[in-house]
Amino acid sequence: MSHAAMHDEGYVKYQARHTLAPAPRHPLLAALDAVRTELHDLALIGAYPNGIGFGNLSFRTKGNQFIISGSGTGSRRILGESGYCLVTAFDVDANAVECEGPIQASSEAMTHGAVYAENPGAQCVIHVHSRALFDRLLAQNWPHTPKSAAYGTPAMAKAIAELVKNNPADQALFVLAGHDEGIVAYGPSIDATKKLLITTVKAQGASA
Ligand SMILES: [Zn+2]
Repeated sequence: MSHAAMHDEGYVKYQARHTLAPAPRHPLLAALDAVRTELHDLALIGAYPNGIGFGNLSFRTKGNQFIISGSGTGSRRILGESGYCLVTAFDVDANAVECEGPIQASSEAMTHGAVYAENPGAQCVIHVHSRALFDRLLAQNWPHTPKSAAYGTPAMAKAIAELVKNNPADQALFVLAGHDEGIVAYGPSIDATKKLLITTVKAQGASA
């Protein structure tokens, strides 16, 4: 069973082909979910008063496949494995993602895919929202995608690919200038990526 969907921000703007399947199973999934709960407690993942969720995270399984938190899950503090799906393929030019699991991939799956495709050392991608961190990092001209690259577009995915390609390290944190409050961190492990994010939040005095 599958369907294609196109929605506005907060849901799915890209073309998603979702196949209903049992929850993904992976030895790292519990660790990722625990990090997600930690970030939820810090309000880096959550939902706005209007109910629109924000923030998502993933880890690479094999090749450019990855397990990512599902669409519309931001308000939930604990997801469990049924809140995740496996992205089996994506096409930046077509702005299309194929995923399988009990829930559809987060609307920002293409952002994650662009990182994995460009840096073989990247094992985890975390996307959060933070008003304070976003404003402070942009004021310092921190690495960022251009303001013209709007959320959920191929232009955004390509701008991310460009940033990642130009960074020789296996970890980085950057700002999505065209996606208000949007921050992305990636790294060689789930733990390293979380540490990079938390360290930057603290160094910038941007705790929620
Ligand atoms: Zn976002």
